[in-house]
Amino acid sequence: MCSNNITLLGDAAHPMVPFLGQGGCMAIEDAYTFGVLAGKLKNDFKKIQSVYEKVRLKRNNKIQSTSMMQGKLNHIKNPIGTFIRNLVMKHTSVMSKRTKKIWEYDANKELERLL
Ligand SMILES: Cc1cc2nc3c(=O)[nH]c(=O)nc-3n(C[C@H](O)[C@H](O)[C@H](O)COP(=O)(O)OP(=O)(O)OC[C@H]3O[C@@H](n4cnc5c(N)ncnc54)[C@H](O)[C@@H]3O)c2cc1C
Repeated sequence: MCSNNITLLGDAAHPMVPFLGQGGCMAIEDAYTFGVLAGKLKNDFKKIQSVYEKVRLKRNNKIQSTSMMQGKLNHIKNPIGTFIRNLVMKHTSVMSKRTKKIWEYDANKELERLL
């Protein structure tokens, strides 16, 4: 996401498959994180980039891979597979727990941990 004095945010850095509806959210989190870092670390652009990459790569990779997995689940063709998927989605809390985890992310806490 960072190269020399260029830092990419949002879709330019990590276009996402759409199965979690999180692409826009990640762009906002990226921008917020970069903005906070720019304020806290003043003109130290190298340091800003380094912390930004540490925080955002992990988060974006996780959302990207989870979204890809969701895409695979959504497109299961085998009738037994779709039956099991639908049962799990309807009768367990797997999906709501996962969504809660995504939504509970706190950019400020992540930054506090690294600064
Ligand atoms: C159908 C659809 C549904 C979606 N649903 C959701 C959802 O429910 N939830 C969610 O979180 N995300 C959703 N997304 C994803 C979300 O829209 C994107 O992840 C988000 O818009 C990325 O923001 P961005 O600012 O990085 O890029 P963009 O929104 O693409 O903004 C980039 C901007 O740069 C401009 N630009 C490009 N080149 C240049 C240039 N050379 N000079 C000047 N300007 C330039 C473009 O015109 C554009 O305005 C959806 C996307 C699609 C397509």
